[in-house]
Amino acid sequence: MGKKFDVIVIGSGLGGSVCAALLAKKGVKTLLLDKNNKPGGKSMGITVKGFQGEMWPTFGIPIEGGPFVEAFQQLGIEDKLDIKLGSTAMMYRRKGESNWITMVDLPGVKVEDPSANFFESWGLNEAEKIDCIKVLAEIAFLTPEQLDELDDVTVQQWIERKGDVPPPIQKFLRTHSNLMATGVYETVAMSEIARIMQVFSGRTNGYPRGGYGRIIDDILDVFKANGGEFLTSAKVESITVEEGRVTGVKTEDQAFEAPIVVSNAGLQPTILKLVGEEHFDKSYTGYVRDMPPSLGFTCVRYLFNKPVMKHGVYVSTTEDSYLDVERLEKMREGIIPDEIALDGVVASHFDPAMAPEGKQMLLLGTWCTPDPAGKEMKALHDKIDEYFAEMFPEAVPHIESREGFMGPAEVSALSRDQVIPGVGGEAAGSAVTVGYCGKNKPKAKTPLPGLFIVGHDAGGAGHLATHQAVNSGLNVAPMVHFYWLERRSIG
Ligand SMILES: Cc1cc2nc3c(=O)[nH]c(=O)nc-3n(C[C@H](O)[C@H](O)[C@H](O)COP(=O)(O)OP(=O)(O)OC[C@H]3O[C@@H](n4cnc5c(N)ncnc54)[C@H](O)[C@@H]3O)c2cc1C
Repeated sequence: MGKKFDVIVIGSGLGGSVCAALLAKKGVKTLLLDKNNKPGGKSMGITVKGFQGEMWPTFGIPIEGGPFVEAFQQLGIEDKLDIKLGSTAMMYRRKGESNWITMVDLPGVKVEDPSANFFESWGLNEAEKIDCIKVLAEIAFLTPEQLDELDDVTVQQWIERKGDVPPPIQKFLRTHSNLMATGVYETVAMSEIARIMQVFSGRTNGYPRGGYGRIIDDILDVFKANGGEFLTSAKVESITVEEGRVTGVKTEDQAFEAPIVVSNAGLQPTILKLVGEEHFDKSYTGYVRDMPPSLGFTCVRYLFNKPVMKHGVYVSTTEDSYLDVERLEKMREGIIPDEIALDGVVASHFDPAMAPEGKQMLLLGTWCTPDPAGKEMKALHDKIDEYFAEMFPEAVPHIESREGFMGPAEVSALSRDQVIPGVGGEAAGSAVTVGYCGKNKPKAKTPLPGLFIVGHDAGGAGHLATHQAVNSGLNVAPMVHFYWLERRSIG
């Protein structure tokens, strides 16, 4: 017999933490367990040689509106969500050219035409600009009903069906299937890209003071202040089931009882490993097993002996730097593309207290397979170095150390256990592909009574990764609360 709770939440990623804190705030006796020695999962805060930050570049919290603001409001700590603004450099290299065109978005400055930067860097003439504006406007004004329909249409199908999408926009959509939806354009749903584009346009984004780790700490402070119990280094080995319903969880050395378990450990690991396929209908386990993973992401950490990077965020793309199914397959064999897209964050640009006086750290990385044993990592790290030297030659002499090399293996170790070969190091979570996003997003309430899923994989929709996880926490908490009240009322 283990200690008894109303609800056990497995995993303190953004989704699990938000859900657990909201439940505790409603008076539900909640236990939160995490396998790591620190909370946060993929958004964990770390300290390296006096620098604070995350394991990998993470960015993009709007100063107003959106799931983060909503979560902090519901938890009664909105005054703590201190989002710092900084500049973003969008770098672009045209085909056959060696120079990088850099467009800078300044902190908090709303631009009249957000597409102007793209048009400028793509080098379009007036007629081409008009053609591109027409397509972008069509995407911007898709109605909620039209977006729902596009849950069943891939980006590739949408481009093919329209027939008149200008080539620069086709490439933009291919690239942004990687960047915004962490997937490839042949499988990502057009609705997801369009929803994210609609949410992001005209919005001012920033980075949280103290990093994402501080956000998690603020959320967990509310959890603990409301009687929630949080155990770290507590890896759940199994979710116990008796007479067809959930009864609790077991770690290596302890058992805990609860009629409701909410898992942030990923849909596939939860169903296929922690509970076991025998407790579900074959069609459900098939659906879970077939769920496509998002892309992985791998990065290098550059520490500089002086502040050399001018901006807070760097996004670099070329006309040919997108990953598609074919390029991803080649990556699985260790062959990387000639051109790659990069994403980088300098945390101390937003919050100077995050770096030792006079120093700077840049996390810079690119998209890859989600395979923890991926063969492409070394070649990608070398390529990141090559690009870095080409884009920022003036910064190279100031590199004090080059380290980190985080990728799918580390992501899997820190977040979801690998249960299917080649999968586990997904950067976002499950992919937002046709059949698994928007109206088709996996349900948070599983067919097993008492078992719920929270986090990027289920219960949230239409947002970029961290936002989708927080959105899920916001949606799943009231669902679980209602279920708990219902069970309590029937004794
Ligand atoms: C390299 C990289 C870059 C990213 N960049 C961005 C970005 O710029 N913007 C953005 O919005 N998003 C970004 N993301 C994605 C974002 O971080 C994730 O989508 C989001 O944090 C996922 O949250 P989650 O709630 O689904 O849980 P996760 O973060 O996956 O957390 C799951 C938690 O469950 C715990 N757990 C798992 N199994 C067990 C078990 N058996 N027992 C106990 N605990 C367990 C883990 O320890 C972990 O704490 C990035 C992710 C990566 C990896």
